[in-house]
Amino acid sequence: MNKRERYEHFVEYFSKHQPLAETELHYDNPFQLLVAVILSAQCTDKRINQVTPALFERFPTPESLAEASVDEVFSYIRSVSYPNNKAKHLVGMAKMLVDVFKSEVPATQDKLQKLPGVGRKTANVIASVVYEAQAIAVDTHVFRVANRIGLTTNAKTPLAVERQLLKYLPPDVPRIAHHWLILHGRYICTARNPKCEICPISWFCKYYERTHTEAALQKAEVLKNKKAKEQKKKAALNKISKELAKRSAGSNK
Ligand code: SF4
Repeated sequence: MNKRERYEHFVEYFSKHQPLAETELHYDNPFQLLVAVILSAQCTDKRINQVTPALFERFPTPESLAEASVDEVFSYIRSVSYPNNKAKHLVGMAKMLVDVFKSEVPATQDKLQKLPGVGRKTANVIASVVYEAQAIAVDTHVFRVANRIGLTTNAKTPLAVERQLLKYLPPDVPRIAHHWLILHGRYICTARNPKCEICPISWFCKYYERTHTEAALQKAEVLKNKKAKEQKKKAALNKISKELAKRSAGSNK
């Protein structure tokens, strides 16, 4: 199966089975989504959803967060990964939103990336989820799953993965494909021990094709060796029996 065919099957399968895939982060407005996405770097959405209700209640607007002390913000997010840095980023981001962007979350990736704590991935999430840009944010799940399925080839960096996906995906698909890949990576194609045996897309997955062909070949080799050993053992036993029979015939003369 070639790459284009894999893309076709990928889009067809997920369009049919997950037409409404979306982020699992909880938020009510673009500002809250921006805060949640900054917090979610190297952390799980589940954990972020545990801390954001209290954080959003205490700091409901960019202005309130811009006036906060880093220490106070830290006290709300201490259970997420890298809380020190993230607390600093959140306050810095809110200050810039207020001072430079009139308290509005900017719509373009370029402007978004000027905000503290916002890299290309976060900017792509905001642009695609809030402003419906056909961008694709590459996180660890997208990186791994796209590679395993065979949607990317030799893509060593998130940017290379993003470029390959944008090149081959139909133009109206990237923003939802991001969620397809994340959700598939989170629940089926997990980093360790992907659940290939129950995976509904194994029939067009490159990793599955490779590992199962290898596994089948290894199994055949093991069986062949086992059979050869058994035959050897049988031949040795036959030889011994014949030898014994010969000796016994000699002693009876
Ligand atoms: S078959 Fe396995 S490796 Fe391929 S997408 Fe499914 S879970 Fe991932």
